[in-house]
Amino acid sequence: METQIIRMNEQHMAKEQLEKAGGIIKSGGLVAFPTETVYGLGGDALNPESSRKIYAAKGRPSDNPLIVHIAKMEDLEPIVKEIPEAARKLSEAFWPGPLTMIFQKSDIVPYETTGGLDTVAVRMPVHPVAMAFIEAAGGYVAAPSANRSGRPSPTSAKYVEEDMQGRIEMIIDGGDVEIGLESTIVDMTVEKPMILRPGYITKEMLEEVLQSVSEDQTMMSLESGQAPKAPGMKYRHYAPKGDLTIVDGNEEQVVEYINKQVPFLQKEGHKVGIIGTESTIARYQGDVCKSAGSRQDETTIAKELYRILREFDDEDVTVIFSESFDTAGIGQAIMNRLLKAAGHKIIHI
Ligand code: AMP
Ligand code: MG
Repeated sequence: METQIIRMNEQHMAKEQLEKAGGIIKSGGLVAFPTETVYGLGGDALNPESSRKIYAAKGRPSDNPLIVHIAKMEDLEPIVKEIPEAARKLSEAFWPGPLTMIFQKSDIVPYETTGGLDTVAVRMPVHPVAMAFIEAAGGYVAAPSANRSGRPSPTSAKYVEEDMQGRIEMIIDGGDVEIGLESTIVDMTVEKPMILRPGYITKEMLEEVLQSVSEDQTMMSLESGQAPKAPGMKYRHYAPKGDLTIVDGNEEQVVEYINKQVPFLQKEGHKVGIIGTESTIARYQGDVCKSAGSRQDETTIAKELYRILREFDDEDVTVIFSESFDTAGIGQAIMNRLLKAAGHKIIHI
C-alpha cells in the first residue's frame, strides 16, 4: 500500500483534502492525524472492520480498547447509554481538550472498538485539523496513538511515517504536537470518577470542577498487586530498545551516580544514553546526553520525552539513565510514562 502524506494546519485546510481524508475513513481505510496530545491512527469507530485494521497496522493486542474521537457535543449521545451529570460538567470545562472519559457504550459501538468491553472511551480533541478531519470522516474516529506497538507515541508526522509507511492509506502532517503525552483518562461509570491514566489535565484541575476524583492505585506503582483498570496500562507500550533506569535523588548525587556507572558499562560494550535537564546536562559523561527541558516548566519535558526515547533507539543506545521528575502537575504523567518505559526500574539514592 502506498501511504499518501498531506500537510495541513489551521491556516491551510483545503476542502478537497479534508474530503479525501474523510472519504478514506468512510470507506473503511486508515488515516493518521495530528491532535494536541500525540498523533492518532484513525479509522471509522462504528465499523468493526476498521478497528480490526487499526489493531493490525499497530501490531496491537485486540483486547486493548480504542478511544473514540468526536468533534461536537451532540455526537456524544448516540454512542453512550447515558451522560452522567459529572461528565457533562467535565465536558463543559475541558472539551475540546486532552481529556478522555469512559461511558457505558450504546449498541452502535462495536465490541471491536472497545476491546470487548461494555464501556467506551470518548475524547473531543482541540486541535483544529483533528476537529475538521473528524467532521469530514463522519463524526466518529477511533484512534489509538499512531505508533507501532512497543514504540513511543509519535509527536511529529516524521515518526508516524517511520512506523506506518506502507501500512495505512494516509498521514496528515500537522507539524509537531503541543503536549506530547497522551490524554488524561477518567472513568465516569463509577460513583466517584476515577483517573485511570494521568495526563495534561491533572487531578487538581478535575477537582476544581468535581468535588473529588479518585485515582487508579496502579498508575504510579506496582505495589498494589492489582491489575490496572485501563486495559492498555498493563502493556509496557512506551518502551525504548535500550534498558532504561530512572535515578531519583538530589541533583548532585544523581549526576555523580550516573557518571560513575558510565565507564563500567562502556567497558562491557554498552552505549550509554542519559536524559537530563537544562541545569544538569552539561555535567553528564554518557555517549549520548539529551536535555528533556526545564524543571521550571515541566510541560517542556512532556513535549520532548517521546522524541528523546525514539532518538535513543535510532542511535542504538543500549543502556539509558533518566533523571526523575516531580509527581505534581504534568510531572505525574511524565513519571507514569517514564516508569512504564523503565518497567518500573527506579533507583532512589
Ligand atoms: P491510547 O493508547 O492513547 O490509544 O489509549 C487507549 C487506552 O485507553 C487503552 O489502552 C486503555 O488503557 C484506555 N481505554 C480505552 N477504552 C477504555 C475503556 N472502555 N475502559 C477503560 N480504559 C479504556
Ligand atoms: Mg498508545
